[in-house]
Amino acid sequence: MLLLVLSDSSAMDTEGIVIRIKTPGGDMDSAVDCPSLLSFNDLLVAIRDVMPEATITAFEYEDEVGDRITVRSDEELKAMLSYYYSTVMEQRMNGMLPEPLQIFPRGTCKPLPCCLWPWVLLLSLDISVFLMCLPLFILFIYFSCLLLFVQINEQDIRYQELLGHGNGGTVYKAYHLLGKRVLAVKVIPLDITVELQKQIMSELEILYKCDSPYIITFYSAFFVENRISICTEFMDGGSLDVYRSIPEHVLGRIAVAVVKGLTYLWSLKILHRDVKPSNMLVNTRGQVKLCDFGVSTQLVNSIAKTYVGTNAYMAPERISGEQYGIHSDVWSVGISFMEVNLNHIQKNQGSLMDPPVLPVGQFSETFIHFITQCMKKQPKERPAPNNLMDHPFIMKYNDGNAEVVSMWVCRCLEERRAQQLQSQGVM
Ligand code: ATP
Ligand code: MG
Repeated sequence: MLLLVLSDSSAMDTEGIVIRIKTPGGDMDSAVDCPSLLSFNDLLVAIRDVMPEATITAFEYEDEVGDRITVRSDEELKAMLSYYYSTVMEQRMNGMLPEPLQIFPRGTCKPLPCCLWPWVLLLSLDISVFLMCLPLFILFIYFSCLLLFVQINEQDIRYQELLGHGNGGTVYKAYHLLGKRVLAVKVIPLDITVELQKQIMSELEILYKCDSPYIITFYSAFFVENRISICTEFMDGGSLDVYRSIPEHVLGRIAVAVVKGLTYLWSLKILHRDVKPSNMLVNTRGQVKLCDFGVSTQLVNSIAKTYVGTNAYMAPERISGEQYGIHSDVWSVGISFMEVNLNHIQKNQGSLMDPPVLPVGQFSETFIHFITQCMKKQPKERPAPNNLMDHPFIMKYNDGNAEVVSMWVCRCLEERRAQQLQSQGVM
């Protein structure tokens, strides 16, 4: 059903859509005749016209569970429209009139400066009124700060579904009652001292600063007894390891997002250290995000103590105990994409230390070149971050077309659902 919807975007173009800009002063509706020609900047200009006093740099829309999704680029705008088309189609199929696309402008000001507004108001009051109002204002500030920086606690989480087990822990889909949003919670048992727990928590703080559309959003982490729970954004398409033989035009767009995600991490001096298909997540909006990167040395070390076996995605220099750098992440990108495309054949062939041999004729030359460059045995011979972005395979698919990934994820999920029903004898 969703597929039909997504491919129907041209139909939307003939009819146009209505975008409702939600502002503190009320709603403003704006008709868009040809949504496929709409750019992120056009929409920003329209919002700034409606809210000239604010500094708007992005906007948000709500998904089916009420989560706010931020739009900061043409690519994310396309994903939003693609999601909107699917809801419109569903509304039509249920005999309803399509609702306008609601967007929520987002300014540059961070939550804390907003809290200062009551103080500005307070300071403009007469001194006697000022003293009378002061306790009330302090209480107001206290509770708004509490709400803004609300910590996720185990009591406020309702676990819904097991998503999978990894080497270190178990991941669940869960619902956060206070934040009213769906989460992915990774629970890792760790028998460590309270001191080490504190060190891990402070090392994880850098995750609050990670802000990229190609990196999974981190919400919070907490220890309960001897286990840590790490709460992040939930991706409804799951990880790449469960998808078989991804077509190259889809894989290309996924590779672009992975390279952009890694480039972002490297710019923050963070090495991923665990690039592999199960740490590349996709969703039905066509977004691709990296997860499980090693920001906490202490957490990585503590998990490593209970880890048995070799990581098939590790670069040769890492397996032989040499220094680890950006180039080792690049090797893992190569072997990951080779694996998802080769339908898990290559993994069991040859030694983990050997560069790849790709079957001739099945893949494009640029794809094979990309993989072989990433998997050069000598780390220095592999492409550096800039060279990765400039590789013809990445350049070819760096067009911001999230709809390609979105349609493919939706189709695979539909097929998976149909297979499940069939195996249960429902169909
Ligand atoms: P490792 O422990 O070595 O990282 P792994 O990546 O296979 O191995 P986990 O990280 O524990 O294991 O993840 C288990 C599974 O949970 C993943 O394969 C993925 O399918 C799913 N998963 C993880 N994070 C999310 C998320 N944010 N949204 C949706 N599914 C997720
Ligand atoms: Mg993982």
